[in-house]
Amino acid sequence: MSAFEPVIGLEVHAQLSTATKIFCGCATAFGAPPNTEVCPVCLGLPGALPVLNRRAVELAVRVALALGSAIQPRSVFARKNYFYPDLPKGYQISQYELPLARGGAIPMPAGQEAIRLTRIHMEEDAGKSLHHGLPDSARTTSLDFNRSGVPLIEIVTEPELRSAADAAECFSRLREILVAVGANDGNMEEGSLRCDANVSVRPVGSATLGTKTEIKNVNSFRYVQKAIAYEIDRQIDVLSRGGHVHQETRLFDSETGETTPMRGKEEAHDYRYFPEPDLPPLDVPEAWIAEIRTALPELPEARKERLVAAHGLGEYDADLLVRLLDGGADYFEAVVGAGAPAKAASNWMQGEIRRRLKDLGEDDMARVPVPADALAELIVAAERGVISSTVAKDVFDKMWTTGQRAQAIIDAEGLAQIADSAALAALADDVLARHPDAVAQYRAGRTNTLGFLVGQVMKASGGKANPKVVTDLLKQRLSA
Ligand code: ADP
Ligand code: ZN
Ligand code: MG
Repeated sequence: MSAFEPVIGLEVHAQLSTATKIFCGCATAFGAPPNTEVCPVCLGLPGALPVLNRRAVELAVRVALALGSAIQPRSVFARKNYFYPDLPKGYQISQYELPLARGGAIPMPAGQEAIRLTRIHMEEDAGKSLHHGLPDSARTTSLDFNRSGVPLIEIVTEPELRSAADAAECFSRLREILVAVGANDGNMEEGSLRCDANVSVRPVGSATLGTKTEIKNVNSFRYVQKAIAYEIDRQIDVLSRGGHVHQETRLFDSETGETTPMRGKEEAHDYRYFPEPDLPPLDVPEAWIAEIRTALPELPEARKERLVAAHGLGEYDADLLVRLLDGGADYFEAVVGAGAPAKAASNWMQGEIRRRLKDLGEDDMARVPVPADALAELIVAAERGVISSTVAKDVFDKMWTTGQRAQAIIDAEGLAQIADSAALAALADDVLARHPDAVAQYRAGRTNTLGFLVGQVMKASGGKANPKVVTDLLKQRLSA
């Protein structure tokens, strides 16, 4: 039996973070009581005229620039006609033949090709049908039009992804970029970021694409991965038995982990697109694009490269600071700016800080109660040998729980290392007197007993002895 390879392309819908809708002044706020953020325009009442929201265009342009897409000098809004109860106009205003932007790519981990984009276009969201929680909900549907007219961009990738894991990674990287440029809040539970996954399989080595299915609205990275993995297996199974994959839309059921064919819509694919007569073509002036480009914040990949170049961090460390900890790169740079060595700062963040955040179920540095300069003070104290690394961890623990500064804790609890030879000499003599066997072994050439003796002195000092001074003292005495 021949082996199959999966082919995946993503269509991501991202809500643009505007205060008002794309063609009217209604608020976009999530969670308002049903049908309170509506007007004749977004309800599609006859005679109401749409006016394009400038801010929505600006945010869409930001995304396109961040992804390296080419903004088209002229794009055109079009009516996508279909019937659905949550679409009162009978059409959705979208872009079709002439989208806002073409090309661009989503960067993937080092060593992997970036995933190219086909296009980015703007459109309005539809309303929401509610089938649950109503009396006689088997036969009743209620409609909430608050979401109708909320600005979206749709980002379409080429069919270049080759595994479920890569697809989830790609979606996650896209989310980071959308959030980094302030175009989207990244909130999948509230539906401001949604992903449709197109999946097909083909015999390894085949140059043509297999028949695809489209899995709709998968609302978490984990589900994207699970849904695609299920669908790949299902299609391989169908083909292996000599069957055919039907081009269809499928729904992912997170309870069963399966995808099932969706009723309805899939046959109605003749949208009869035509240019929207109530909106002029969208011409985005070069000068405005240039202005938006200049104001673009630093993107995650660039930030990572800068951390590697400026602070000598490894790729892995930089990636973790930028991608796994929200606000991690800012915090890191503040710690280094306050005088801590980069490697130590990165280690503290990856170790102590990340562990505590994990316990809180968080990855947001805003939840860290220790300010960057306070961590720097602690790191410097440890680097200078004022406190041992073991004590430093205890001090950090107190800083985290009490909000006190490192030096205050060190002073109050007398934690500074004993580096004073006279005080340590007494401890060393005492340990040597108590362990004549170890001393004899050392002198007979078993020099690894030194570690044991150092340990004994450290213990006698309550962990406060400077291990280097102790080692020197013991060596002197043992070779005397
Ligand atoms: P449709 O006409 O069904 O909307 P498109 O060609 O516009 O299909 O592609 C929509 C999405 O599906 C894109 O992300 C694209 O990369 C992906 N895609 C297209 N063909 C395939 C295929 N055979 N297998 C997997 N993904 C595909
Ligand atoms: Zn409105
Ligand atoms: Mg299409």
